[in-house]
Amino acid sequence: MLKIARKTECCKVLGPGNRAVIWFYGCSRNCDGCIAKSMNLSEDYAESTPEDLYKWVLSCDKIEGISISGGEPLEQNSNELIDFLRKVKSDSRGLSIVIFSGFTYKEIEKGPCKEVLEIADVLVDGTYKKELNDDTGLRGSSNQNIIFLSDRYLPIKEYFYKKDCRNIELGITLDNTITINGIPKKGFVEKLKSDLANEGYELI
Ligand code: SF4
Repeated sequence: MLKIARKTECCKVLGPGNRAVIWFYGCSRNCDGCIAKSMNLSEDYAESTPEDLYKWVLSCDKIEGISISGGEPLEQNSNELIDFLRKVKSDSRGLSIVIFSGFTYKEIEKGPCKEVLEIADVLVDGTYKKELNDDTGLRGSSNQNIIFLSDRYLPIKEYFYKKDCRNIELGITLDNTITINGIPKKGFVEKLKSDLANEGYELI
């Protein structure tokens, strides 16, 4: 079963256009400054078959594509993940797929999820390095690469490297948990966490 920490049916800050986003649960790394750390440690996730997850994508209206992040999406069961992504790719709406992974392209190429390189349109690869966060583009730090696996987004390549694509969306759940979508600017999360803790909220 695929482990889902969170999902949203419409996000505008993790790739071009309106996107359904899935944050998969769990990551074996422990990068300093990871904004998903509490989510990865929470043991709070839902399980889904590839088919049911795709049914959810089908229910998402007016989306250009999906983005998958985490956690580490490529540490999910590889057969199930690939099955899910193939279903998304065959969707009659022509959905695009953007993957955010801590693995590098070369590691993925040699690993059990290598097929994702044939299915996805964009891969943002490599571990997050806090000291290399330069507030630029749709990647957390400058060691990460934005790799165009298909020609889908080549005409708007510069969008992925712009400073102003570092936008975020904040949400609040009924249990006073604040959620954050997107790649925040350097230092933003630390400051937000501290301000929110003073008000009795938790950021995940
Ligand atoms: S690879 Fe990503 S999710 Fe995993 S610890 Fe590093 S920043 Fe967090």
